[in-house]
Amino acid sequence: MSKSPRLKVHVDQDKCQGHARCKSLAPELFELDEFGNAHEIGDGTVPEGLVKERLNELSELQDSITAARREALIGTTVDVLVDGPGVARSHREAPEIDGIIAVSDTLAPGTFHDVVIVDAFGPDLEGAPA
Ligand code: SF4
Repeated sequence: MSKSPRLKVHVDQDKCQGHARCKSLAPELFELDEFGNAHEIGDGTVPEGLVKERLNELSELQDSITAARREALIGTTVDVLVDGPGVARSHREAPEIDGIIAVSDTLAPGTFHDVVIVDAFGPDLEGAPA
């Protein structure tokens, strides 16, 4: 199993203007001098645990944003392309990246249909015949 690359922060002293946003967002990584300019703590290495903690926070935030945007589509009619049995996509669902729209498995793959979005499950939607 390969080790993940170490992340490091570095403050360019010629560009730092002393806003202290870095310290307020990541006090584990930055300290301020007497003029309010920031410096990385130690060699700037970001601890592995902090990387995972921040990724989890961002993932939870993104999941809630995605869920809210998907729920906002309930009741709308969308044009979908049936990808496979019971699975369709509109212009919003890129393969292998975004969610899918679950449709009746009686719809033939390769055909277009208008469906009404009737439910949302995280990134996925359910569509019924319009
Ligand atoms: S204090 Fe931090 S956030 Fe502000 S300019 Fe310097 S490095 Fe950037």
